[in-house]
Amino acid sequence: MMVEYLMEMKDLINEMPVQDPPNELFCAVDLMWTKFGTSVHHVHDVALIPYDRVESFISGECSNAECPTRFHIERGRKRKRGSLKEYKSDEYLQYRLYWCSFGPENYGEGGTILPSRRYRLNTRNRAARPQSMRGCTCHFAIKRLYVRPSVALVIYYERRHVNKSGFVCHGPLDKDAIGPQAKRIPYICSEIQQQTMSLIYLGLPEENVLQTHMEGVQRYCGSDARVSSLASQYVQKLGMIIKRSTHELDLDDQASIRMWVEKNKKSMFFYQDSSDTDPFILGIQTEWQLHQTIRFSHHSLLACDSSFGIRKLKYPLYTLLAFDSRQHALPIAWVITRSITKQDVSKWMKALADRVRTVDSCWRIIGFIIDDPALELQPIRDIFSCPVLFSIWRIRRSWFRNVVRKCSNIEVQREIFKRLGKIIYSIWQGMDYMIVLEELLQDFVDQTGFIMYFTSCWLPKIEMWLSTLENLPLASQESAGAIEGYHIKLKLRIYEDAQLDSLERVDWLVHKLTTEIHSSYWLDLYADESGTYPTIKEDYISSTSWHRALQIPDDAVKFHDKDHNIALVESQKDRNQTNIVSNPGSEFAFCDCSWSMKGNLCKHVIKVNMVLEDKEDSPPSLSYRAFERLLLDLWRKPMDDSIELDQSMAWATQMKEKIQRLVEITTSNDIAAVTSKLPLQWLGRKGRTFVGKPSNTPALLPCSISKNNTHKKNFTKKKNRKRKMLRNL
Ligand SMILES: [Zn+2]
Ligand SMILES: [Zn+2]
Repeated sequence: MMVEYLMEMKDLINEMPVQDPPNELFCAVDLMWTKFGTSVHHVHDVALIPYDRVESFISGECSNAECPTRFHIERGRKRKRGSLKEYKSDEYLQYRLYWCSFGPENYGEGGTILPSRRYRLNTRNRAARPQSMRGCTCHFAIKRLYVRPSVALVIYYERRHVNKSGFVCHGPLDKDAIGPQAKRIPYICSEIQQQTMSLIYLGLPEENVLQTHMEGVQRYCGSDARVSSLASQYVQKLGMIIKRSTHELDLDDQASIRMWVEKNKKSMFFYQDSSDTDPFILGIQTEWQLHQTIRFSHHSLLACDSSFGIRKLKYPLYTLLAFDSRQHALPIAWVITRSITKQDVSKWMKALADRVRTVDSCWRIIGFIIDDPALELQPIRDIFSCPVLFSIWRIRRSWFRNVVRKCSNIEVQREIFKRLGKIIYSIWQGMDYMIVLEELLQDFVDQTGFIMYFTSCWLPKIEMWLSTLENLPLASQESAGAIEGYHIKLKLRIYEDAQLDSLERVDWLVHKLTTEIHSSYWLDLYADESGTYPTIKEDYISSTSWHRALQIPDDAVKFHDKDHNIALVESQKDRNQTNIVSNPGSEFAFCDCSWSMKGNLCKHVIKVNMVLEDKEDSPPSLSYRAFERLLLDLWRKPMDDSIELDQSMAWATQMKEKIQRLVEITTSNDIAAVTSKLPLQWLGRKGRTFVGKPSNTPALLPCSISKNNTHKKNFTKKKNRKRKMLRNL
């Protein structure tokens, strides 16, 4: 092995071979390393591997027998292709610094942060964290090369799993442990800790928790009787600590929260204590949530459940949600505050975005879904630089629940709900919503309970809601179902065993979120990805109505009549039982199953709508209409044959390429049917693919343009008419 002091990296890199070991996983010992140094004291190992084998290398490094571990991304940076005018051969396209998860901090003996007794007893989700942070210095960087994107440069700064003093700090070779009494407790990596805690929080029997914990520990420490008995003590102790742990760090809620904030700096991104001038704001995001944010929302969407517990909790809860790999809503941050002013929202939103960008400077979302028109849009646009979409899940839910609660006859409930839907649809059909609304109020004047509710709660703000719905692109039924799924789960967990006085305490809510709720989401994802807990995985997969709808076969759906006014969905469990869905094909379809009657968007409605979407002459959903309008709008501009047209063409081409990754253009036989509407068609969920397919069909067919020409004119007319209408209101 040679040490290169004189040669510069850019020259060295051209001489190094790209190594591609044959094994499925490989690690540092499988590679030939070149020493590279700027001085005698700064010598690193470098090697080149194919970029698409980076994951195999990292996995290989994790399963090091002497020091099994995980590597997390400590820092990351990205650059766009073509962004550099001049570059050297070692310039990166993507840079990631990976650090052994037993470091970099050292909370252990002799470490910089010594765990005090109070810290350790007051465990919660940070429970045994001090034990996992061992100050390990093992770290490496991976650069995807700018000039050769298919090649990655690995720079190993420290290959040994040692702390600053040079001692092996974790794994079977290190028999040390830390903290009061902890010398005898084998410490464990944060993944096993999190797993054990999650299982305890979920209330699994202790012997099951212990067994899983042991399996985990044995992977790291090997099996010997002493280790096993200590591990079992650990689980018992952790169980006891969790049982006894209390949200109440102080009798005074405000003081208690201040203490929580002081102790949980890493799980928090913004804190503003309430004062005469400022309202209370607490932004919570654990490190795990931070990593999921980058993983799932980069180049994708964020959504919010904006006003959970607005009447029951001391301060309402605003949850930011990402859509995970199954498109389920995953909470990636929680904000507890009553303030929705532009100034306050900007403060916490900026803090959150800054936090994510310190880990991945290129993190970017492409859209943000809101659920309430009263929310300030400007902070979202300024901070995330993305369009805002609107989901109707909240309005649908609250209308449905009140219709069911306030009207006793199911026929009346169906009809009123359908008419409410008509108000929303009126925006898209160029109708005057006031007429639809007045008809509703007149026809159901005898339903006094409902009419009173509607006139007092909705009439004052209906215009604001409708204009938001008209001006923002609408989000899909799948996302509505996912956000609602989160909302329902949260409701269950928060209100299940809450006493009235605990709802009045912020520290209680923080405790609940960061322990039980955080753990359950962690475990869901872990179960899904590791396959360890099949039942949890199953429950997790079917936790949204959309996924449950996919389990219903098409032939279980029958239509009562030719006009598709009523659909019947045969129950899969009991063939004699059918659920009736009235007003199918609409977001305001009404199902009579018990899940739906609670106000939830049920699988039957989704399934019936899926079936109808495939039928030729059925009207498109609201979000599809919004999408259609967007495309038509886009197509009308620019007006002349100028450079602007070239620029627009370039933008549109880019956009088309991006969309094409998600969407496949239907080919051959179906194309005629499709183009009479639009050139693009969303594929059914089952057939959906995320791999871009090269287009062999032109995206905009001439026939679609000529057909849409008339459409377009009508559309403009409609829009002008609506503008006038709004002015006259
Ligand atoms: Zn390490
Ligand atoms: Zn149903």
